[in-house]
Amino acid sequence: MSLVQKPLVLQLLASSIKIAGHAGKIIRNVMEKGELGIVEKGVDDPQTEADRSSQRLILASLTKLFPKVKIIGEEGQSDLNVPKEWLITDVDEEFLASHECPAEFKDTKEDQIVVWVDPLDGTTEYTQGFLEHVTVLIGIAVNTRAVAGVIHQPYFKHSDNSVGRTIWGMKGVGIGGIATKQVPDNKLVVTTTRSHSNAIVQAALDAVNADEIIRVGGAGYKVLQLLEGKANAYVFASAGCKRWDTAAPEAILEAAGGILTNMKGEHYSYAADVHPVNKSGVLATTKEISHEKIVENIPKHVKEALSPQ
Ligand code: AMP
Ligand code: MG
Ligand code: MG
Repeated sequence: MSLVQKPLVLQLLASSIKIAGHAGKIIRNVMEKGELGIVEKGVDDPQTEADRSSQRLILASLTKLFPKVKIIGEEGQSDLNVPKEWLITDVDEEFLASHECPAEFKDTKEDQIVVWVDPLDGTTEYTQGFLEHVTVLIGIAVNTRAVAGVIHQPYFKHSDNSVGRTIWGMKGVGIGGIATKQVPDNKLVVTTTRSHSNAIVQAALDAVNADEIIRVGGAGYKVLQLLEGKANAYVFASAGCKRWDTAAPEAILEAAGGILTNMKGEHYSYAADVHPVNKSGVLATTKEISHEKIVENIPKHVKEALSPQ
């Protein structure tokens, strides 16, 4: 089936699956060479050569394939003059051949789409050697809502010792690339930040009264933990995450039946002109537990400390 015959959103996702995998190779290459080129963008907000190169590869490839689609990357303006081998034009043919586009996205046009790109989520963890926490995130929004996306994990180890896996999801289609599981024994296990905590973040965690709290890096990796049954809620009552952190995780988690919103239970808008900071935090839950109940349990002073979105 040729690329041009499929609806735009499906094409974008099929291309993003391949592009994210190549971005993952760049991330591993930079680490192997050992010259990380760390720049501090702000407090607790590092950028490395891997973030920059991964973004250049993703933006150059998507722009070449979909020149009229709005793409927003975490690292801002990038030089899209990339080496020829960084222009990824292959698509996941198997994905395209085996999935139908839901009716609601069949006629979606370029001007209804915004692609949010986090070329390397979990940079702090990347520089500290927690490589499993690192992901590449490509989220596709249609008419302000995150509806499809890819989480690529460049350092995931398969049983045959090969590395890297790509998880995709699309509302109305489902998810692929991962075996989903539930947290056993009706336990409430919460995953949260390991490097961006503060008193309000902790107050929200205390209120949720979890059986266990796991602290890992990256929004992408935390949502993978929800999908894999290692946790069933992601609670982060702070303004640190941005739309590129949550677009792909939200689309994939919701395609699997979960929910990702702010701490008040409201969905973020992924329109091109929004301020990218997720000012009222992130709350994500799997379909087995009540999102609403966690929202209710968040103390008033925590909700008030988070500005409106
Ligand atoms: P974390 O859960 O702390 O690993 O953060 C998930 C994503 O949000 C990463 O991309 C972080 O860089 C970003 N993030 C969260 N909190 C902050 C913060 N206080 N400053 C900068 N970035 C943050
Ligand atoms: Mg990030
Ligand atoms: Mg990043």
